[in-house]
This record gives sequence, structure tokens and C-alpha cells, in this order.
Amino acid sequence: TGPDARLQTGDTELEGLEQAVNSLLDRMRQSYQQQARFVSDASHELRTPIAVIQGYANMLDRWGKEDEKILAESIDAIKSESDHMKKLVEQLLFLARGDSGRTKLTMEEFSLRETIKEVFDESVMIDSDHYYHLKESEDLKITGDAAMVKQAARILVDNAAKYTPAGADIVLQVKKNEKNHPCFVVQDEGIGIAAGDVSHVFERFFRADPARGRDSGGTGLGLSIAKWIVDRHGGYFQVLSREEIGTRITVCFPQNPH
Ligand code: ADP
Repeated sequence: TGPDARLQTGDTELEGLEQAVNSLLDRMRQSYQQQARFVSDASHELRTPIAVIQGYANMLDRWGKEDEKILAESIDAIKSESDHMKKLVEQLLFLARGDSGRTKLTMEEFSLRETIKEVFDESVMIDSDHYYHLKESEDLKITGDAAMVKQAARILVDNAAKYTPAGADIVLQVKKNEKNHPCFVVQDEGIGIAAGDVSHVFERFFRADPARGRDSGGTGLGLSIAKWIVDRHGGYFQVLSREEIGTRITVCFPQNPH
């Protein structure tokens, strides 16, 4: 092989390297853009409750001392807006910690049925507006962070309650799916999700209808957190929903059930 052949080999090596560097740069750029968007969306979401609190504080300052109606209304609004802000900040911290790789999971074998039963018991206790049912469940054990999986299940049950009229049923179950993967299911008889929105519900800050989300005290971050947790377990979601009929979300863990 003469010098020309060496040059050609060098060229292809260089091209390969250039491609690898470019694709790395692309990914870094994309991740940077996503982070920048996240920070900008988060700031925007925080600005609204802050503005409302400021408005009511000013109103209190001017008229609150003489007018009891204004006093009561302002206190209510300030309380509910600061609750909303607290939730938003806690959820943002969870995602920011997760993004930066600072969240450590403690993996151990646990009973999925026990965990879902705990979520069921808590829901029955704190929400008297809905009828909760724990359907006949298999005792499936998986390896994962039980506290995290419980948090994901709680988010799905909270959503079921938020988007389902009072008096309706919410059903929980643990079972294997057609692929023999252990799963838990949360099913409601609520407002449902429009077909075109289903693929967006896991995006940060996405709310099917901003007005609805706002009324229910939603932040648009719950399902992003649930997805982060399920992803870290190598799991996946199956969403089945019909508007005005209800929603069924199944979370599966591709492990052989123990
Ligand atoms: P939020 O805090 O607004 O509930 P999520 O990330 O948990 O945020 O959910 C995103 C959006 O998906 C919600 O705003 C709502 O529009 C829709 N959604 C989630 N769960 C349900 C459900 N069980 N029934 C109807 N819509 C739902």
C-alpha cells in the first residue's frame, strides 16, 4: 500500500470521527434546547400565581381592612395560589434532580399488589367523592424502587380523581398483560382524553385543555414525573381513553414476574 491508500484510509477515519462529533453536538444542542425551553416554561408557569398573589395582596392593602368580603376572597385566593406554586416547585425540583442524574433509586424486590393496595387504602381515606375498587389482583413481585413506583401510581390515581365527576368509580388492579409482564391498571369513568392528545399527555406542562387543568389545580407535570419513574424501571404505559367515557392507564414492567 502506497501513501495514497494510507491517505484514503485516513480520510474515511476522519469522516467517521467527524460524523460522530457532529451527532454528539446535535444531541447536546437538542438537550440544551430542551433544558432552555423547560426553564422558560417553568418561569412562565410560576409567573401567573405570583402575579395573582401580588394582585390580591395589593387589594388587601387598599380595601381589605374595611371590607370583609374582599378580605375573605383575598385570603382564599392567596392560599390556593400559594398551594399551587408549592406543588409546582416540588414537581420542578423532582424533574430537575432527575434530569441531572442526582436521583438514586433503591432497587429491591417488592410486591406490586401490596404497593397498589397501599395507594388504594390512602385514596379511599382522602377522597370521599369517588368509589374506589381494588379488583381481584395477582400477587406479582417486581424489582424496583417501591416508593417511586408508589408515587407513579399515586399520580395516576390523583388524575383519575381530578378528571372524573364525583360519584363515579375508580378501579385499580394488578395483573399480567398478554406479554406476561407484571402491570398495574388505573381506570376511571371521567372526561377522557381526545385521541389527538393522548400522545402528548406525558410532555412537560401539557394539559388537554388549559382551563380544565387550571380548575382542577393541575400543573401539567404529574404524568412527566410518572413517566420518568417508569422509564427508570424500563417500564412502559398503555393508554386507552374515550372522551366522556373514561380512561384506562396500564403501567407494565418488562420483567418476568417472580
Ligand atoms: P395535570 O397536573 O394537569 O393533571 P398531568 O401531567 O398529570 O398534569 O396530565 C396531563 C394532562 O393529561 C392533564 O392536564 C389532562 O388534560 C390529561 N389527563 C391525565 N390523566 C387524565 C385522566 N385520567 N382523564 C382525563 N384526562 C387526563
